[in-house]
Parts: sequence; structure tokens; C-alpha cells
Amino acid sequence: MPMKPMKPMKPNFNSLNFIILDNTAFVSALDPNQISLQNPGIQFYITSSVYDEALSNQRSSQRIEIAEAQQVLKVRDPMPESLKIVNSAAEETGDIAALSQTDQEIIALYLDLIYEYPDQKGLLISDDYSVQNTCARLKIPFYSYQKRGIKKNIRWEIYCPNCFETFPPKLLGKNCDHCGATLKRRAYRGKRRKF
Ligand SMILES: [Zn+2]
Repeated sequence: MPMKPMKPMKPNFNSLNFIILDNTAFVSALDPNQISLQNPGIQFYITSSVYDEALSNQRSSQRIEIAEAQQVLKVRDPMPESLKIVNSAAEETGDIAALSQTDQEIIALYLDLIYEYPDQKGLLISDDYSVQNTCARLKIPFYSYQKRGIKKNIRWEIYCPNCFETFPPKLLGKNCDHCGATLKRRAYRGKRRKF
């Protein structure tokens, strides 16, 4: 029988104090209410933009309603200082243009919580690749339900698929200033070029 690709080991939810969720986590297999049955002390956090997005999805809105009623879930937004740290980490990895405001906020919220509760064990759950990669850069533990989590930190290189020029990370999705093609990204190998 062919081997299935390795999935990242499922974390032990019972050893955690808090979990931060994004919307990809909510609509996939995760049910906060289920986890809190086994670990009654656990606290789930989402940001207000995740909350708004989640309410528009029937499956996640039901889970949110129950979790709120059980006081398992809190809605909280990050401090601007933490957002700045996330922003510069994502610039360094090249993920910045692929991260939405919501993505940046959930990562920043982790920094807030671990600053406030340094003795606690937290986890961020997101299926978004760039969120995971930025977390890895900031040494934030993360878990993904749907995709095989990333194996190691990736540095992205932004390049033109037409003339092969490279560009700073911020320009992902913009047009090449030589030929006008839409810029793409690839995992960086070899020496980092100076921009
Ligand atoms: Zn070009």
C-alpha cells in the first residue's frame, strides 16, 4: 500500500491554555466546543474580523454561537505594537503581500496573549500557508487541519515569470516594471539578492 503523505502531528489540545483560530480553522474540522469538553480550562480567541467573517458561514456561526454561550470563546483585537512586529516579520519572509489584515491580526493576537500570560501554552490554528510561515518566523506554534503544515521556514522571492527579474516582497501581485507581467513568488534558494 502506498504511504500517505505525513501530516503534522496533532497537538495535544489538553495541554493547551489557549487556541487562536482563523476562519479556515472554523470551517474545517475544528469544533471549540468539542475540545473544551475534554479540556474545560481552555480558552479560544478570535479577532473581530474573524468573528464577522465566521458569522457569514452557517457551520462556523453555529459553532461560534454555542462557544460564546459556553464562554469558551473570546473576541479580542491585537495591539498596534504587535501588529508592527508581525508586519516586519512577514516582510522578512516575503509573506507580507499574501497576508490579509485579518491574517496579520490573528498572529499579532498570539503575541499579545503570550506577553500577557507568559506561563501559558498557546497555539494558532490556520490553514493559510503564509500565516504558518510567518508564525514559524516568530516561533509561534501553529497547526493546520487541512494542508500538510510547512516543514521549515520559507523565504519567498518575488520574481517576474517573463523576464526573471526579482523584486521586493511587497510587490507580489503587482506588475513587473520592465515588461508589465504579473509578479509571482517562489521559495527562495541560494543567496539572497540585495534589493
Ligand atoms: Zn518582467
